[in-house]
Amino acid sequence: MSRESTPLPIALPDAAWRARFRRALLRWYARAARDLPWRRSRDPYRVWVSEIMLQQTQVTTVEPYFNRFVRAFPTVKALARADESRVLRLWEGLGYYRRARQMHQAAQAIVEQHAGRFPRDRDAVRALPGIGRYTAGAILSIAFDAREPILEANTIRLFCRVLAYDGPPHASQGQALLWAMAERVLPRREVGRLNQALMELGSEVCRNRTPQCDACPVEALCEARRRGLESQIPRPKPKPVFEYRHEAAVLIRRRGCVLLIQRPEGGRWAGLWDFPRYALDAEDDTRRRAELVEHVRRQTGLTIELGSRLKTIRHGVTRYRITLECYEGRCLSGRLNRGHNRPMRWLHPAELDDYPLSTTGRKLSRLA
Ligand code: SF4
Repeated sequence: MSRESTPLPIALPDAAWRARFRRALLRWYARAARDLPWRRSRDPYRVWVSEIMLQQTQVTTVEPYFNRFVRAFPTVKALARADESRVLRLWEGLGYYRRARQMHQAAQAIVEQHAGRFPRDRDAVRALPGIGRYTAGAILSIAFDAREPILEANTIRLFCRVLAYDGPPHASQGQALLWAMAERVLPRREVGRLNQALMELGSEVCRNRTPQCDACPVEALCEARRRGLESQIPRPKPKPVFEYRHEAAVLIRRRGCVLLIQRPEGGRWAGLWDFPRYALDAEDDTRRRAELVEHVRRQTGLTIELGSRLKTIRHGVTRYRITLECYEGRCLSGRLNRGHNRPMRWLHPAELDDYPLSTTGRKLSRLA
């Protein structure tokens, strides 16, 4: 069933409510909006970069990344021309690297198909890699004031509460209701401003665990507040089930250099570089060391002598909780397996700074 034809589980507010809501929200935003670097211009490129970086990432984390990124690539054309490794290096530490690779591909598509100008047409924007309904709505409304709705974590929570909708917001009925609300609430002009105000209110006032209802400009219009349900809506998501695993990485040395391998397409950290790293099955330390030496031999063609353990790093990647043992290794013999489909390079430690690595890879590089 399409989103449009899904019946709404509850009625949407009338025009008078919506007008009051917009007025209160925009008045509040005029005095409370944070001064963020991407809000200082309506350049669609800058709006786009910020929206992609802000997915799953806090504003305070994004700010320095955004500034560095637009300094290095001030335009769509500059990004399109860049080497992917450089794009990933500037993204390093933000995580979800697929976002950076897709943005780079999208910049190339904009240059090839739209003469380097960000398209204004919704379908053309949606056809770009990595741009979904929310991101397209945010860019088009903020940069061009197009009448496009947005729905993301902050506005989902805000709308659920003002409507007192306690159903699952990500199920089809919830989505139909919330997108319909996001559309209906839009004004004729200043659409981008309203969308930004909605996100700001959700992020700064209608917070996840501690909604600041006493300071909220739409308190008088909020149905959850009226019923005293603000801390029960929306329903909490089920807790994720973690999977625990053991991995090992080796810093293999040969003639003052260390070995790096590029991560394969389709997997974790695709496009980044890494020290040889493997998931281990063996239970005890002796067997794990033997397993690791064998993994290295099969993948790289090198025979190594495994040295001491340099570090143990505990980290999380999506649903995995990983214990990573980092070892020293000395190359004894063998030639790099050039037929292998993953590029491998011997690099001097000073060169590692130019290569994009995962957060744990960067920690390990400091021991090289
Ligand atoms: S009154 Fe409270 S629950 Fe309602 S929108 Fe404002 S902060 Fe959120």
